[in-house]
Amino acid sequence: MAVAKHDTGQAPTPAAAMATAAVRSLSPYAPGKPLSELQRELGLTDIIKLASNENPLGPSPRAVAAMQAALPDVWLYPDGSGHELKTALSRALQVSPAQITLGNGSNDLLVLLAEAFLTPEMSSVYSQYAFAYYHLVSRATGAQERVARALPLDSAMPLGHDLDAMRELIDASTRLVFIANPNNPTGSWAPEARVRAFLRSVPAGTLVVLDEAYFEFARSSGCEDAVPWVHEHPNLVVLRTFSKAYGLAGMRVGYAVSHPDVADVLNRIRPAFNVGHVSMAGAVAALADAAHVAAGVTLALEGREFFNAELPKLGLHVVPSAANFVLVRFGANAMQVFDALLRAGIIVRPMHGYGLPEYLRISCGTPEQNTRLVRALGAILGKGGRAS
Ligand SMILES: *Cc1c(COP(=O)(O)O)cnc(C)c1O
Repeated sequence: MAVAKHDTGQAPTPAAAMATAAVRSLSPYAPGKPLSELQRELGLTDIIKLASNENPLGPSPRAVAAMQAALPDVWLYPDGSGHELKTALSRALQVSPAQITLGNGSNDLLVLLAEAFLTPEMSSVYSQYAFAYYHLVSRATGAQERVARALPLDSAMPLGHDLDAMRELIDASTRLVFIANPNNPTGSWAPEARVRAFLRSVPAGTLVVLDEAYFEFARSSGCEDAVPWVHEHPNLVVLRTFSKAYGLAGMRVGYAVSHPDVADVLNRIRPAFNVGHVSMAGAVAALADAAHVAAGVTLALEGREFFNAELPKLGLHVVPSAANFVLVRFGANAMQVFDALLRAGIIVRPMHGYGLPEYLRISCGTPEQNTRLVRALGAILGKGGRAS
């Protein structure tokens, strides 16, 4: 569905046609529409973006100051070992620096994991409606992909990961299992006891990649910090990011916590300077400002409550979420609603790429932004009107 800008419908130039079959079969990831693009297209100025689950509070002022202070040094290559950030993380997480691998966002770590562990003979396992990168990074290696059907809409965890079904797909060829907890784009989550039982059941030679990009928003929903579990499970990799709760999506910093042997493998293929100097300085300072993170989480949870209360009044079904966004069912006219919202200066995220064409994903913004979205939807759908 996502067509590259250069796609002319003609055969690619011979050199490009020589890319591996696996890579040629990929569609590029379709990110949320950037503010500047909508500005250019519609000439609008007062635009809000509720499309990429960013933190509307922005980064900690301490992180901004640290990044500014780091600027004069950018002529030097960054510290390739990420010593300062790893030391800060190791203190905060109670793990050794040797258990941490830094990434250019946690997506970078997904790429490294796939490169290190997948071949066309191997398989990866993930859930239907799971974060799109699990497919992308697996597919690029030519590995077999095994996709477990998601839990049904009328279950206790609508569209969530069915860990039992995922377990059944694991065999001796399975090198990576991806679990997003909570998951994007569904917002669904798996409680601690379930994830723990799953980990105990997985063979020692299969890595479980537990992607906790939204972990900070999910504690009140019963998601536990999985980092301490790496001490019991040498085949567990926990992924975290500074892009969401820490408000540093533009800086591209993520990390993996794993057994040191797994970190050692990742470090062999990690480009030495994959995280920039300014980014690491910002992350260190952001990590130290727990109050700022807490404020962002509170704001997001209030936004989620507001959407949970207001959107059903418009006849919309909101999928239960433990993250800083909600997946909302609009029915057959979801794309018309998406376009109408764009014209109203509000960017949300279409979901057809995820096989959820009747849905839009809406990130929690500031109270003003959330109210503006609900008002705009009310106007688009007709007062109290039903979608579809
Ligand atoms: C946003 C997100 C990430 C984080 O990506 P970064 O590369 O760290 O910005 C990872 N996993 C999921 C499920 C996400 O939604």
